[in-house]
Amino acid sequence: MLTKVIGQAQIDHFAKWLDRSEKIVIVSHMSPDGDAVGSSLGLWHFLNSQDKTVNVIVPNAFPDFLRWMPGSKDILLYDRYKEFADELIADADVICCLDFNAINRIGNMKDAVLASPARKILIDHHLYPEDFCRIVISHPNISSTSELVFRLICRLGYFSDITKPCAECIYTGMMTDTGGFTYNSNSQEIYFIISELLSKGIDKDEIYRKVYNTYSESRLRLMGHVLTQMQVYPDHHAALITLTKKEQDSFNYIRGDSEGFVNIPLSIKGVVFSCFLREDTEKPMIKVSLRSVGKFPCNQLAAEFFGGGGHLNASGGEFYGTLEEAKKVLEEALEKYKPLLNAKG
Ligand code: 5GP
Ligand code: MN
Repeated sequence: MLTKVIGQAQIDHFAKWLDRSEKIVIVSHMSPDGDAVGSSLGLWHFLNSQDKTVNVIVPNAFPDFLRWMPGSKDILLYDRYKEFADELIADADVICCLDFNAINRIGNMKDAVLASPARKILIDHHLYPEDFCRIVISHPNISSTSELVFRLICRLGYFSDITKPCAECIYTGMMTDTGGFTYNSNSQEIYFIISELLSKGIDKDEIYRKVYNTYSESRLRLMGHVLTQMQVYPDHHAALITLTKKEQDSFNYIRGDSEGFVNIPLSIKGVVFSCFLREDTEKPMIKVSLRSVGKFPCNQLAAEFFGGGGHLNASGGEFYGTLEEAKKVLEEALEKYKPLLNAKG
């Protein structure tokens, strides 16, 4: 049995909305990751089984390694089909906001979502949710939004309606937001849920391979290049990897090619904090990705130095300036956080 994480009031409230609604839109964050796509499609499969008219809309494209996911072809990309998506958002009875806590995480979709008269529900696991939804299901102690979607469906009384494709999507989100169950993954209930998903016929080993073992040759070579350039700060138990636009061009970089790179330096003995600075190809900025192990709060560092946020062990932000300047800011941050980086545990 699972603990009742989601409040009964939220469950009852959402059940009422479902009774009365026909058109449902699911939205998730910019540069959708496995959990954004997994939770959205998991909920999409479920709501389809309840005969609702459901659409998943995300601000921009998601990585190729998620394309195998059942239902992914039906995801609408806002940057390509803005007019159609705007209509769906304006006409929806309910909008489900998944895997983001701040409205600006959905980029250009923000205005349409805020302006829509639809009832809105937030289902998310990031700290400090903003106040833009009537029903708020926000649980930062749960490691993925996909897990919350599973819990929600079960609490609504529809475990039996979870199909294999639905279970595959939920599993993918749970797996990717925990790095294949290597961080934020000590809760026993995660494994109870996995066991329930296995009962739906998912092949978890195959899902792992489809997500993680689909590198292109150029991605693997790029990884080698980035790691060769890596800078380690032994006194700070930290490491930095960078990627310029020029390097992206010379390795035929396509979106998603550097996904997961930021985790690699954490495999060095003694390194507890990793930073990845990447020149963005669309906007004149440096995308900052941060990861830590243990108690080091990379979300605090992201907020203080890079106008960002996120989770304790996985966060990010943006830097408007050159890569060299971003590196200087990081080094300042390392100095400031040196005592915490050197703390045990
Ligand atoms: P990633 O490094 O995979 O891009 O992001 C990891 C996590 O950091 C995300 O799940 C999100 O919580 C947070 N994050 C990444 N970029 C930003 C950002 O620009 N602003 C904020 N507030 N959070 C971010
Ligand atoms: Mn997530």
